Formats: sequence, structure tokens, C-alpha cells
Amino acid sequence: MFTFEKPRIIVSKCIEFEHCRWNGMIIASDVVKLMKPHVEFLPVCPEVEIGLGVPREPVRVVAGEDGAPRLYQPATDTDWTAEMQGFAHRFLSGLPEVEGFLLKSRSPSCGIKEVKVYPNTPQGMPRKTGSGLFALAVAERFPDTPQEDEGRLTNFRLRETYLTQVFTLREWRDVAAVGTMGALVRFHTRHKLLLMAYNEVAMRDLGRIVANHGGRPDEEVYAAYRAGLSGALARPAGHGPAINVLQHALGYFDELASAEKHFFLQSLEDFRAGRVPLSVPTSIVRSWIVRFGQEYLAGQSFFQPYPEDLVQISDSGKGRDL
Ligand code: SF4
Repeated sequence: MFTFEKPRIIVSKCIEFEHCRWNGMIIASDVVKLMKPHVEFLPVCPEVEIGLGVPREPVRVVAGEDGAPRLYQPATDTDWTAEMQGFAHRFLSGLPEVEGFLLKSRSPSCGIKEVKVYPNTPQGMPRKTGSGLFALAVAERFPDTPQEDEGRLTNFRLRETYLTQVFTLREWRDVAAVGTMGALVRFHTRHKLLLMAYNEVAMRDLGRIVANHGGRPDEEVYAAYRAGLSGALARPAGHGPAINVLQHALGYFDELASAEKHFFLQSLEDFRAGRVPLSVPTSIVRSWIVRFGQEYLAGQSFFQPYPEDLVQISDSGKGRDL
């Protein structure tokens, strides 16, 4: 059984950590609650950090005269853009290595997308959506680090992808600290089936980087691999590639009864149809790995990309195709 180290994740403080929303409320999140024992969360509330206080008059994103988003507080007629951008710069510059961001959905500061953008007039309804100002700074400074909001993580595919990303990157942190080609080869080998399920083309590109036929220095190889790794895991595993990996795994178990194989193939169909998450057929193979002592598959992260406890989070059933 693989022992997972805790990934470091910056989280909006109002999600399960503090009553710091503009109205003094806190946001409940089953996902964050379950992640807490397995993650080193670094909570931050950008609006409190710039001195807005709790409770406070709400702020909103307004399209500035030049079209750039601004953070505006209508009740006090105050523009907080410079304070927010300054705080974001200082805070993000001082971070240790982090594996992810988990931000409050639709917030004018933390929202990654679908944040209401108001016109630059005293009255008027929002006509478009964009990002909060802190989230914009995160995206600009950390383009290769996973970023999600707590609302999207109620969707099982997005959650699986995000957890896979942050726990894989946490393993990467240790491998990068070793920095040898041997460590890189072992990392790539362990994640081979996982990468195949997420993005087979990227997996082959990463394989070429590891092979290093051009004889590049180790640091360059590591930098290229890290950049490629983020791209490889950027989107949820495709149903087809993941099914190919699972069917490939089935070939390692000649001892199975036909009823067991049939049950497994049915779960693959359920996964293909979007009725169950990837973890369902994967769990079946994992039980066979233990039962038959299949060492090669036991070492593959595909079968357990993140801690077991996080697989069972109940799903909202919303937005499966996001
Ligand atoms: S969304 Fe961000 S700025 Fe707003 S209360 Fe939560 S942590 Fe603070």
C-alpha cells in the first residue's frame, strides 16, 4: 500500500476554516472536510488581508474604463483593486512550493470563473462573467498548478482529476528533490498507466523527455518533464483511454471466473455511460491485485492515485460533462 504525503494547497479561508465571508458566514464543503486529514491546507482570505474586515460591505468585479477588471465596493464608493493586486503579489511571491489552489466559487476575489462582472456605471446589471482579482493573479503566476473551486469539486470527474493532479504533484516534489535520472525513470514508470489514461500523446512525449536522447543536463530534463506533467493531467481521463488501461489490466488475471469478468466488464460499461466514476472499475482491479499479488499493477499509481478515504465522497450528480 502506497503511503501518500500531504500535498500543500492554498484554500479560501471561508471554506470550512473561518467565518470570514462579507456577512460573517462560513462555507460548508464535504470535499474540503474529507481532504483535511490528507492535505496541508494553507487558508487565506484576501479580502480580510487587505483590511476589509468582517462583516463588511460586499465588493464586486467591475469592468474598468480600459476593460480591465477592478474590485469595487459600491456602498463606500471605494476601489480596492490596487490593494488586492498588491496583496496577491506579496502573498504569492512568498509561498513555499504548493501543489494546488482550492478557491471559493463565484467570489469577486477568489472566483476562478463565472464571477459576475458589472458595468462601470452606478446602476446596471452584470452583463458578463470573469474571474475574481485574487484568482486572476493566481492563474497568471501559477499557470501549471491545479486550480479549482469547491463548487466544481462536487462533480466526481473533476474531483478525481483534481485529486490525481495534486497528489501526483506531491510525489513529484520529492522526486525533484532527489533530482537524479534514476528517480525520474522510477516516477515515470510508476505513473505510466495513469498518464496513458489521461493523455496518451503526452505520456509518450514525457517518455521521450525521460529517454533524453539529446543528452540535456538533468535540470533541463526535470523542468521539461514538470511542464509536460501538468499538461498531461490537465483534463479528466478520457473514458476510452481509461477503459483501454483497465482492459489491459484484465489481461493480467487469467485465474478469474467468467462471472467475475462479466461483472467487471459491466462496470466498464457503466463508467463509459457516465453512471459511475472511474474509481468503481478501478476498485475491482485493485481487489484482484491484492488477491493475486500482482506486483507490476500494484506499483501503478493509476489504481490508487490518491488516498483511499477520498474516493468515497458523495457526489452531487451535477455537471458530469464539465
Ligand atoms: S471568497 Fe475569498 S475573499 Fe471572499 S471570504 Fe472567502 S476567502 Fe475571503
